[in-house]
Amino acid sequence: MFISEIAASLYPWDLADEGMSHIADELISRCKVNSLYLVGVMHFEKRPLTSLFYTHNKARKYYLPENSRVYYKADEANFKNTKLKPRYSEREFLKGKDWLDILTREGRARGTKTGIELSHTIFDTDVARNEHPEMLQRNVLGNLINDTQGLLCSNHPDVHEYQRAMFYDVVKNHDVDFIQTCLLTFSQGGSVKAPWFYDTWMDINKANLAHLLGVALGGCFCDSCKAKAKGWGFDWELILRDMTTLHKIALASAYRYQDYLMENNLTLGSNVTESMLLFEYPGLAEFLKFRIKSITELFKDIYKSVHEAKDDIDFRYNNHVRFPEYSGISFKDIAPYVDSIRDSDYTEQTGAKDDFFYKRNTLLKIRRGIGFDKRLIAALAVRPNATPELIRRSIAVVGELGVDGLSLGHYDCSHIEHLDAFREAIEAINVQLV
Ligand SMILES: [Zn+2]
Repeated sequence: MFISEIAASLYPWDLADEGMSHIADELISRCKVNSLYLVGVMHFEKRPLTSLFYTHNKARKYYLPENSRVYYKADEANFKNTKLKPRYSEREFLKGKDWLDILTREGRARGTKTGIELSHTIFDTDVARNEHPEMLQRNVLGNLINDTQGLLCSNHPDVHEYQRAMFYDVVKNHDVDFIQTCLLTFSQGGSVKAPWFYDTWMDINKANLAHLLGVALGGCFCDSCKAKAKGWGFDWELILRDMTTLHKIALASAYRYQDYLMENNLTLGSNVTESMLLFEYPGLAEFLKFRIKSITELFKDIYKSVHEAKDDIDFRYNNHVRFPEYSGISFKDIAPYVDSIRDSDYTEQTGAKDDFFYKRNTLLKIRRGIGFDKRLIAALAVRPNATPELIRRSIAVVGELGVDGLSLGHYDCSHIEHLDAFREAIEAINVQLV
């Protein structure tokens, strides 16, 4: 099997705690890594995420990152057309340093590729909620989505420009070969799990339909979305009518939205398909199309900007959702505006009870969307709950799926025996880096 890349992600605090040189030694010798990248903007997410404690960090047992701080130096001039400005770490051991430069210098000295990831939220969502509520996503009733945290809407001109500028700026001013993102797009609302009433014989195991109905609990219906949708010729009144109805069906119970209760029970408790939902509620289909057009436009603007900054930059989308089309991502639509896609499936850490059924099918879905001119990178977990056996099985499975690269998730919480198992697994199927 020939691939071009074995990538590994690092956080600024990993570099501060373990030292970039030591980490590079470990990843290159144990895993044959030839691509190192920094998660240069990270949302607040406890590390390690899937276990209590770090196993190879002498400085601390766990870490609680700040909300969406930027860990490299940005050029403020690139943000002159947006009210949003990059915010930096206020922690003593991290602030004032360009952690991306530290990573890229080490990578270059060792002949690896270098990259940067801008993670789920690239602006502090607490600040956004307090200072710029008009930039946050709204549900069909006009309420903030996820009101404890908030989610920015890319259709707001300031947000759109900030997101574009963040990608442009870091590629322009740092020595990176690729820029990866798992940016949160439109809120999917979540799965509406079961009918309010159900009996054992009801067909309630319908993830697709439950997630499609869940879109009615997501966003966005803000003023910027309304203006953009109308400008593009979408029937906003139809969208509002159908999405309001579906919102009530999704939430109906014996005590709330009672008029919609039987529709809830009979939709989620029968074997009706999602196609019927789309026929019956044309506003739902329009809403999904509008969101895909919005995100495709964002990707197009980012793609053009990063290639303006550096001709041969690799713009990589990091797929992290089960139903991308319910969040505005259509692989066929974004294909012209990405250079590669990483699929961040971490089945290994859940015991791979499906023998990688989901991982295989997701990789094929992405390949179907992006074709063969764009590169597909398969991720795998080297974290707790994975085992050396599962890692070997995962590599054997992925080895049959025509991927162009592998990506480890993530070094900070990896177990050393998992890193060694990865090397043994790629040697076992004769993986060659070209
Ligand atoms: Zn919006």
